[in-house]
Amino acid sequence: MTSYKELGLVNTREMFAKAVKGGYAIPAFNFNTMEQMQAIVQAAVETKSPVIMQVSKGARNYANGTILRYMAQGAVEYAKELGCENPQIALHLDHGDSFEICKECIDNGFSSVMFDGSSLPYEENIAITKKVVEYAHKYDVTVEAELGVLAGVEDEVSSAESHYTRPEEVEDFSKRSGCDSLAISIGTSHGAYKFTPEQCTRDPKTGKLVPPPLAFDILHEIEKRIPGFPIVLHGSSSVPQDEVDTINKFGGKLPDAVGIPEEQLREASKSAVCKINIDSDSRLAMTAAIRQHLAENPGHFDPRQYLKPARENMKKMYVHKIVNVLGSDNKL
Ligand SMILES: [Zn+2]
Repeated sequence: MTSYKELGLVNTREMFAKAVKGGYAIPAFNFNTMEQMQAIVQAAVETKSPVIMQVSKGARNYANGTILRYMAQGAVEYAKELGCENPQIALHLDHGDSFEICKECIDNGFSSVMFDGSSLPYEENIAITKKVVEYAHKYDVTVEAELGVLAGVEDEVSSAESHYTRPEEVEDFSKRSGCDSLAISIGTSHGAYKFTPEQCTRDPKTGKLVPPPLAFDILHEIEKRIPGFPIVLHGSSSVPQDEVDTINKFGGKLPDAVGIPEEQLREASKSAVCKINIDSDSRLAMTAAIRQHLAENPGHFDPRQYLKPARENMKKMYVHKIVNVLGSDNKL
């Protein structure tokens, strides 16, 4: 058993309480590689922001869960080395799909876990979430649950259709499951293709796709029913058009990729939404920089030559999200 406290990590309880009160959201960035981890830590330290580093099933399959855990420990030490005296970094399991995987992560140094029972029948979702909560709270680990289904594809999590969270269920669910935060579905979606062109309208000036707006009425209804309870938004990348354009300009092919407009995420951050998950934007920033670098420098073959601009581009994106979208800067 390794407690996250020995690793210098924190759980999400205090960061969420402060975020709900302060009207901002904590960034939850997925990571798979050392360059991503470095970029996340650099951005968090530079902006004095708390941060959640999260690990999906795909990340564990790609990088190995043990390595990622040691990287999170390394992230804390790296933040200190960069001059942050008291880094607030949580290591979170994204979309845990069983009690066993949640337990394994809790036993190995994670400070926060998600049990995603959103595809299960309501009572079964409550029962397993509650079992995870009971185990996690023994070790002061926080638990995120999910009600409602997001569309899109994220590693092994995928669904063809979304259905919005039903506000009339949230009070009963949060009370009986004992979860610390709740991921809801109000129109965000996993992946870089969040909406089909048919679901969008086109901006007559630019010809770009404009996605359907988030269901703020449902969010406000949920806030009314569980005031101050930490709410989480998954699938909240914005799929920046300049990164998509760079990728396409240098040999890529991402037609009609579309995300959640940043103005809407900014508005959500001011509500009880206190954790916003961003994964695709980091992938796009990394790929755009690598494609551009290799196209402009066909003789380069040292990975450091193209991973350095990739890391810089990801860091720029993380800083932008923290400062201009989530508002979590200067909160340490
Ligand atoms: Zn997700």
